[in-house]
Amino acid sequence: MMVRPCPLCRKPTAWEGNPFKPFCSERCQTKDLGAWSEESYRIPTKPQEEQGEGWSEEDGEEGEP
Ligand SMILES: [Zn+2]
Repeated sequence: MMVRPCPLCRKPTAWEGNPFKPFCSERCQTKDLGAWSEESYRIPTKPQEEQGEGWSEEDGEEGEP
């Protein structure tokens, strides 16, 4: 039987028949995926000043003078 420690909580986890492997539970899997996607969202974010005036994708409500 294959048993590995959970990457998140280090709890010994059986891989056989475990839909959440390599994690011990859905809780750890979701937690890890959440942290990963949060990180990937931060990386491409740039200051809006770099885009120049008249170009704002996020503040689309202030287009009318
Ligand atoms: Zn875990």
